[in-house]
This record gives sequence, structure tokens and C-alpha cells, in this order.
Amino acid sequence: MTGLYDSYNRCIDYLRISVTDRCNLRCIYCTAYSIANLTHDDILRYEEIERIVRVAAFAGIKKIRLTGGEPLLRLDLDKLVAMIYRIDGIDDISLTTNGILLGQYALRLKEAGLDRVNISLDTLQKERFQVISGRDHLDEVLAGIEAAHRAGLEPVKINMVVIRGMNDDEVLDFARKSKDEGWHVRFIEYMPFATPGLETLGAVPKQEIWEKLQSLGKLEPCYDQTGNGPAVYYRLPGTKGTIGFITPVTEHFCQSCNRLRLTSDGQLRPCLLDDGEIDLKGPLRNGAGDEELTGLIMKAVSLKPEQHKLARGLTPNGRTMCQIGG
Ligand code: SAM
Repeated sequence: MTGLYDSYNRCIDYLRISVTDRCNLRCIYCTAYSIANLTHDDILRYEEIERIVRVAAFAGIKKIRLTGGEPLLRLDLDKLVAMIYRIDGIDDISLTTNGILLGQYALRLKEAGLDRVNISLDTLQKERFQVISGRDHLDEVLAGIEAAHRAGLEPVKINMVVIRGMNDDEVLDFARKSKDEGWHVRFIEYMPFATPGLETLGAVPKQEIWEKLQSLGKLEPCYDQTGNGPAVYYRLPGTKGTIGFITPVTEHFCQSCNRLRLTSDGQLRPCLLDDGEIDLKGPLRNGAGDEELTGLIMKAVSLKPEQHKLARGLTPNGRTMCQIGG
């Protein structure tokens, strides 16, 4: 096949796969209001995910990211990584995790074929970590970051969702980590999903973060932009680490969107911030052949909206990040 192109001529070569909706944190803005409720039988088995990736790779998908929920809660995730690694056409496998279990699994994952890892971390303060995530695991996350480096899961990227009044006063502390410890930090704008109780949480626009960072020096554009995604990278003068911005709210990047998402219960989602889904699990379990599955993947690609709902002035009211796969 010659690749997957949507109705707006975007090349879709990236599939983000959620392997579970369960999480070992209860972040106020993510899991707290959407406790996992899928049963073992609801979620795709590794063999089913492997089959979907094989068909998707033949159709044009080249890059895979595993996410969740917390993907490392899924037993023997390295086995799935190894299964995907063996599939022709897949040239990059990455993982998004909260890092708590990386100390245990980083090396096994690397050996299985994982290329790199993004670690979510919204605060460097122990008490605040407990407030935001409902758990006391900051030390494990920091150990997980170290383990990822030791295992060579580079570049290790640290994702901080910046929320007004919650952690926006730590932007400089994270930026200093890029300066002093070579961290690759990415500031992500909080996306307002229509979740009861969360109406007051606010995104902090990139411009505001940018202005705060000026006190550390002039940010220089980075020309070695690594990754498959929408982040735009900069660097403080003379430092190894980078500072990236992901701006789904104030400067959406739908025009360069290259991705599909597969939820843990087997729904193919054309857009994170739009509510449409195509069922793959049903047909898969009812004996669909590769041709039928390819057709469903192509249908999902053709249904990608030109812009996500926030960009169209609407609020997505379906599932949260943890349920979809962040
Ligand atoms: N458990 C893994 C982790 O923590 O990275 C993977 C799943 S988690 C849903 C993925 C990312 O989505 C996390 O960085 C989380 O902070 C982010 N996230 C969740 N809800 C969000 C929202 N409303 N806006 C922006 N980012 C969000």
C-alpha cells in the first residue's frame, strides 16, 4: 500500500495504542472522575493488538506509542513491545507513562525493542504531587526517570501539564532542570474536557509560560526536533536539555496531525478531541479478515475532522484522556 492519507491530505503514519484504562494515580484533572470500569474481557488482548498493528503497518502506520491509563500496569508489557517490534514496517515504538513502575521495567522494555519514553510529571514538590495525583509517588517517578536514562530509552521527555493555580508556579523549576540536568521538558496546555467539577481548571497559554522563562535566558529555537508530534522545541543558551511547548488550545496543530488512536476497548478514534469512534474489537472478535480491518482503518482515517472540537469552539463531551488513551 502507498500510505494513509485523510480527506485533508494529511499523511497518517502514527498510531497511539491505549493498553488499559486503569491507572495507579488519580490525577485531579484526568483519572479522578473517570475511575476505570472496563473488565478484563473488554480490553484487547496482546494478540489482538498485534493483529491490528500488523494490518495498520501494511496500510501505512510506521510509529506506535503505547499509553493508557497507566500502560505499565498491564502485565508483561515488554511482551507486547516485542510482538510489535517484530512487525515489518514499524520503525519506532515509544511509551507514555507516569514513570512509577519504570524503575522495575525500563531495562526489560528496552531489551524488548522500546525506543524511547515520555514521562508525565506535573510537580517536583512531594506534597503537591499527593494533592494533584492523590498518591505519594514522586520518589518512584524520579527513580523511574533515572532508570529510563540508564536503560537508554532516549530521549527521555518529561511532560508537564500546566494548570493555572495548580502548578504554573513551577514552570521555572522545570525549566531549570533542562538547564542543570539536561532534562527534555515539555509544557502542555491543559485541554478542557467536559468533565463535571473541572470547569474551573484553566490552561496556561504558551505565551505566558514563554514570558516567565525569559528570566532564565533567551530561548533559542532547536533544529534537532525529535519526535512524531506537535511539540516545538527550544533550548536555553549553552544547555543540553530542551524545552518544548505543546499547544492544543492556543495554537492547535490539527493541520499537521498524523495520528489515530486505539482505545483499550478496541475503538479506533480519528481525533482525540472529537467524539467519533470506529469499532475494531467487534469485527476482530467476529472473525474479520485483514481486508475488512484495513477498510475500517481507512474509514477512521477518512473521518478525521479538519480541526478538533476545541478549535471549532466546542467541548468534547465523551471520554476523558485516561479512558481514551493520553
Ligand atoms: N499514565 C500515563 C501517563 O501518566 O503518562 C499515560 C496516560 S495519561 C492520560 C497521558 C497524559 O495525558 C499525561 O501526561 C496526563 O497529564 C495528560 N492529560 C490528561 N488529561 C489531560 C488534559 N485534560 N489536558 C492535557 N493533558 C492531559
